[in-house]
This record gives sequence, structure tokens and C-alpha cells, in this order.
Amino acid sequence: MSHEEFPTDRPAVVTCGLPYANGDLHVGHLRTYVGGDVYARALETLGQETAFVSGSDMHGTPVAVNADKEGVSPEEFALEWHETYKETFPQFDIEFDNYGHTHDETNTETTKEIVRELAANGHIYEKEIMVAYDPIEDQHLPDRYVEGTCPYCGETARGDECDDGCQRHLEPGEIEDPVSSITGNPAEYHERTHKFFEVSEFADYLTDFLDRLEGTSNAQNQPREWIESGLQDWCITRDLDWGIDYPEDAPDADGDDADDLVLYVWVDAPIEYISSTKQYTDRVGSDTYDWEQPWKDDGEIVHVIGRDIIQHHAIFWPAMLNGAGYVEPRAIMASGFVTLGGKGFSTSRDRAVWADEYLDEGFHPDLLRYYLATNGGFQQDVDFSWDKFRDRVNTELVGTLGNFVYRSLLFAARNYGGAPDATVSDEVDDRIAEAVADFESAINDYSIRKAGNAAIDLAGFGNEYIQRNEPWKLTDDDPEQAQQVIYDCVQLSKALAVLFQPVAPETCDRLWSQLGEDGDVADATVAVAREAPQGEFDEPDELFAKIEAERVEELNEKLDQRVADATDDEADDDDADDTDDTDNDTMSDDTTDADTDAQAADLEALSEERISFEDFQDLDIRVGEIIDAEGVEDADKLAKLQVDIGHEERQLVAGIKQLHDLDSLPGTRVIIVANLEKAELFGVESNGMLLAAGDEADLLTTHGDAPIGTRIQ
Ligand SMILES: [Zn+2]
Repeated sequence: MSHEEFPTDRPAVVTCGLPYANGDLHVGHLRTYVGGDVYARALETLGQETAFVSGSDMHGTPVAVNADKEGVSPEEFALEWHETYKETFPQFDIEFDNYGHTHDETNTETTKEIVRELAANGHIYEKEIMVAYDPIEDQHLPDRYVEGTCPYCGETARGDECDDGCQRHLEPGEIEDPVSSITGNPAEYHERTHKFFEVSEFADYLTDFLDRLEGTSNAQNQPREWIESGLQDWCITRDLDWGIDYPEDAPDADGDDADDLVLYVWVDAPIEYISSTKQYTDRVGSDTYDWEQPWKDDGEIVHVIGRDIIQHHAIFWPAMLNGAGYVEPRAIMASGFVTLGGKGFSTSRDRAVWADEYLDEGFHPDLLRYYLATNGGFQQDVDFSWDKFRDRVNTELVGTLGNFVYRSLLFAARNYGGAPDATVSDEVDDRIAEAVADFESAINDYSIRKAGNAAIDLAGFGNEYIQRNEPWKLTDDDPEQAQQVIYDCVQLSKALAVLFQPVAPETCDRLWSQLGEDGDVADATVAVAREAPQGEFDEPDELFAKIEAERVEELNEKLDQRVADATDDEADDDDADDTDDTDNDTMSDDTTDADTDAQAADLEALSEERISFEDFQDLDIRVGEIIDAEGVEDADKLAKLQVDIGHEERQLVAGIKQLHDLDSLPGTRVIIVANLEKAELFGVESNGMLLAAGDEADLLTTHGDAPIGTRIQ
């Protein structure tokens, strides 16, 4: 693995957290998969050799429990969901190079190999532990089969995870007052021999690994805290029939117990990333893509996951890879959750927009891809509502990008039968080069939002350019200049097709055909954005259609009605079993009610230390209004702001250059600390501090209209 900028000369593999084969996919689930797909496509647009892989997660107790309820085998149950996912993803143009599942032969073999390797390297040991057991049914109760009280926070928890309380991963035997979740019988603990992976031995390695790790900052910060609070070794076997057997020929498989044990689902799930890459190589041949290069030799491994599974990917997984002699991940991109109208998705209450429902309503997949990819920073939560969806589609896709391309190509086709005879102007060529640079740095920053914005901003420039130059007035007076302007617009349209393709593949494919270009736009690298357009083409069709307000009202009513119906049903059915819902709680970013609580775990801890009221009064905090904003030269992140604070105008320097559109800031009401010591940053004086929340610098403002200069108290 290198830390050179993409594209590198080594193959990359982009993976998506495996969906757990246990229930339907909704719009919230799709965020990670859209994110992974956009990222993998964008790497290819940069010219990076890339494989994009995933698979269904088939094992574990939720599948076993739900299969049992339906009276089918766990394999049959999980395979049915696997087939559903395999059909659903391509409908959203999420195109994996390989999509396998954890129960197939490749993954079973690869998993056993890696466990044997870990055992041979002395990283696995046996320990007697207390496991929950139902004496009436004569049944062991691993993970979800047992419920009780979390020993850390006292909340009701399942055997392997405190998902209503402190969010900790719970080891077997830890849960207090155990009860069988199937029969309700009180459970006993009895002693069993299990296998442990000595994660604690990897603490130093993991500390260094996290320093090297790229991606979103949440994937580094949380694990650092976990390491500091002391790593526990990890029980990697379960008393269960459903799963991959502990390899009998492992160097340490001496006891009889190993025969009855399967591997914990979290051992074989991430190994599917490797297995799926292997299957891709098996299909295309190692000359086209050699799985051993990224995984065994030297490549760029990028994991795209939901943030509820950071611990597994940033602690357990790299320790396993390191212990078995594999390459470590270069980056982990952990997405925030998706909420629906400000609240969590609830699969049990049918409070969700389902993936197939979205398509049945007749919406194009690219609209949702654009929304999910660009509505917030990747690690931030994104709220989905039909109103916001409509707003962004109509404003940015229809109004900005679609409008520019349509008017340009229509004018070109009618007047010149395609691109007129000209060469691109310096102004437009420079602007495209800037968009390409923005796109490249976005991908190197692991920001798919910025990559999408690079195209939308370029389309915004296009609209401004055509408006400013008014080619329709020039066709008679200055035909040469008219040709120049329209040629520039065709060039901009071509660049847009290349740069927006990762976000909206089907739409850009259509645009590519409209432009009369040969080949597949997905194969075009960034360099093609500045190559001369092919020439002849006919009148275009519009790329996007407006969504009417009535349509949104209808959709909102439908959702409200369904939630109301489901809530009534739930009231009638009070004893609804907890295991009945479709929380994809193994390898997914499902946003359920419980997951929404999980967001608290991501927040910085509250300060224990109190300050006096007098200390607070020392702060002179004021309402201000931004008058002017510009970037500080040579500083990537800093902006210089002139802020009116009533008494006077202040100059402040704030780290918001890349996070806000500086041109749109004047007129924005902000909150500043007026009596902070002056500072000089990059030679520019900062006289006060702008208040903002979080990594994306969400600017603080006032709710009402307190006059400029008002003191905050
Ligand atoms: Zn807890």
C-alpha cells in the first residue's frame, strides 16, 4: 500500500460493507453502496485500476433465528435475500465487479486458510468461558439467542451487542440475568472451551496503523479511544450449527470441542472482501486483475462502510490481516446514517422508503444517487425527505446541469448540426482544468460530495458563460464569435459527462450519446474532459425531468398513512418479538431507531469540568453579519472574512475555505467571539473567532432577528 495520490500504479480494491441477508433494503441502506460505487467509478475515471466487490453476509444468529421462525433452513433463508440484493443493486447502477456471499466455497476456504494462518502464527488460544445455555431445550445460546442486562450500562441488551444502551460489543458470558430469546426460559451459564484471537497483542501495531489510515476521520478517532481504554481479546467461535466450521486441521484444533464450533460471523464476513476479489480474478483472469496484488503484495484497499461497524474494520480486521500476513487497508470511509424526515428509519414500523418502492414510483436511480452522494459530508448524517429530494433535483439537476446541457446542445444541433468549427477558448479550457483538479482532490480527500459538486459547479459556470456571451444575439452580427461560444459549451458538456459519470452513470451515458461520442463514457478518464468533441449530433432530449409539488404531497401522504397503519398493527401485536425486525445489524449501516441512538456514541464526551458564570461572562460573544469573504492566499483551508459586529467591522480568519461557497457568504448572520486574543495566520490578522459546529463547519446563527452587534448571554 502506498500513500501516494490516486491514481497510483498499483491496483485498488474498493469494498462495501456486506448487507446482512435478513431483510429488504431501504434508501438508508443504499447510502454506503452508492458511496462505494461512486468512489470506485471515480477512481477509474482518474485512471486507477480498480475492482469493486462485496457480497451478502449469510451467517450469524439473526439469520438462524429468523429462518427457524419461518421453518426453513438458514441457508435457504439467507440465499433468498442474497438473490434479492443481487438483483436490487444493479437497478441503482451499483455495479460490483463481483458480488458473492459468505457461505460460498471460496469464502469458506479462504476463511479456513486465514484462521489456520493465525493459529500457526500463534495468535489464537483456547480459554474456558461461561456460555449461556437453555437447560430445558438443551440448547446453547450464542449472541442473539440470549438477552439480559448489559454489565456496563445496565440496559437490556442482546448477547453480543448492547444496541439499546452503550453500544459495546459484548463477549460471550458477559451478559447478566440471561434469558433465552427463543423460549424465554431463564438461561444458565456453563463452561465451554472456546477459541480466542489475541487482539490485545496488536495494540501497538493498530496504533501505528491508525496513524497511517486514510479515509474519514471517524474511522481513526473512535478506534484510538478504544485502544486507549484497553483492547480485549476476541472470542472467535460459537456453539452454533450455522456458520463456517472451525478448521479441524488448524494447528491448535486438538480438543474435541473444536468439532462443534463454528466461527463467529465477524471472522468470515470481512474475509468475503478477499474471497469476492478472488472470484473476480477467477472470472476475468489474473492478467486483467490479480487479487493477490492488492491483498498479498502491494495495493490500495479502500473499505466503504457504515459507521456502526468501525470497530470491526479498524480494530479486528486489520489485526487479522496483519496476523495472517495480508496487506492492511489504505483507507476506511465510514458513512453517517440516513434519517427520514429528521427521524430514524424504522423497518418494524414501515417507516422507510424502500429501494423497490423508490423505483416503482418511477424515479430515475441517478436522482437518488446524486442526493445520497452529495447531500452532506460522507461521515455526516443525511436526512432524506421527498421535499428536499424534489428541491435538489429541480434546482441542481434540472435547473443547473440539465438546463445548461440542453440549451447548449439544442443550439449547437440546430445551428451547426453539432459542435461548430472552432477550438476551445482559454477561459473555458482553464475552467475545465480547474474542475478536473477539484475532482481529483475530492477523490484523494475521500469526498464523493466534493466530486459531485465539481461537476455541478462546472455546469453553473456553463450557465453563467452562455448567459454572459448571449450567442443567440451573435449568430448574425458576429457568427465566428457565436461559433466560439457554442463550441465552448459543447466542450463543457463533454467534460460534464466525464466528471459526473461516477455519480449519474446512466444519465451521463445518454449525454455521451447525445454528444455523438464513441465508446463508453465510463471508460473515459479525466484527460478526455479536455479533448475535442467528436462533432456531429442531433437535437438532444432533456436529461432530467422536474418533480412537481403535488407529487411530493402524494408521496408524503402515502408514507404517513403507512406508518399510521403499521403503528396500529404494532399496538395490536404487543408481544412482537424483537428478533422479528429486519435490522441489518451485522455488516450494514442500517438506520433503525436503535441505530439513531448510536449516534450519541459518535459524539465527543461532555466535559466533566464546570465553569463559573463569571468565567462565561468573560466571553464577549456577538451577533455579526459577513460583509465579505475571500480565500487566504497559499492556505488551503483558511478564509478571510469581514464581519459587521455593530460597533465596527472586524477581520477574522476561519478554516472554512473548502467547506463553504465563499461567494455566497456575504449577508450571512454569524456568531463570533469578539474578545479573543488577536492572532496572525498566514500573515493575515484575525481579530476574533467565528463559531461553527463540527468537521464541516456548520455556521452558528440566530433563530430570530436580533440586531447586529447584540451580545449573546
Ligand atoms: Zn451497555
